[in-house]
Amino acid sequence: TNDYRVAVFGAGGVGKSSIVLRFVKGTFNDNYVPTIEDTYRQVIGCNQKSVCTLQITDTTGSHQFPAMQRLSIGKGHAFVLIYSVTSKQSLEELGPIIMMLKEVKGDSIGEVPIMLVGNKKDEAKREVSTELGQKLADRWGTGFIETSAKNNENVTELFEKLLALEKKRQLTL
Ligand code: GDP
Ligand code: MG
Repeated sequence: TNDYRVAVFGAGGVGKSSIVLRFVKGTFNDNYVPTIEDTYRQVIGCNQKSVCTLQITDTTGSHQFPAMQRLSIGKGHAFVLIYSVTSKQSLEELGPIIMMLKEVKGDSIGEVPIMLVGNKKDEAKREVSTELGQKLADRWGTGFIETSAKNNENVTELFEKLLALEKKRQLTL
């Protein structure tokens, strides 16, 4: 089909919904609104002449049941794994997601676009350095970027980089 499905994972409060809403609607909210699970659709360029539907699912994060996570991973073409640079714990919580991705995608994991994202780069009190984020991304074989949904820094770039990692189709925003 012409759907390109992206699932967004990460601990509660890291800014998953903020990044998705900043990207899709251009808005930002300072208040924390816990998500059930929302999917947003956007038309993107696909293999020069044609279009695809980019479908972004904002998951409930690590509080999602493992069976639900597995289902989201099975259906997804590409993945955005978000932590907050203000929380080392939020980075550690991505470990099990990476493990599950490897398990579900099996031998094709090398072809699956995955971006590791350190959000809240605008915050002064950091617990995770850029170097550590990059080191983990290298170890996990994923792309890496630091973002601020609040200040609208690197949000579009995040999705551009993600789509550029897809080698089976040529996808453009
Ligand atoms: P989610 O649980 O991962 O979906 O996180 P939310 O998107 O609901 O964001 C959690 C809290 O962090 C909210 O109060 C947001 O306003 C705040 N937040 C999200 N992104 C940023 C950011 O880039 N910088 C700062 N300083 N705060 C952010
Ligand atoms: Mg949310």
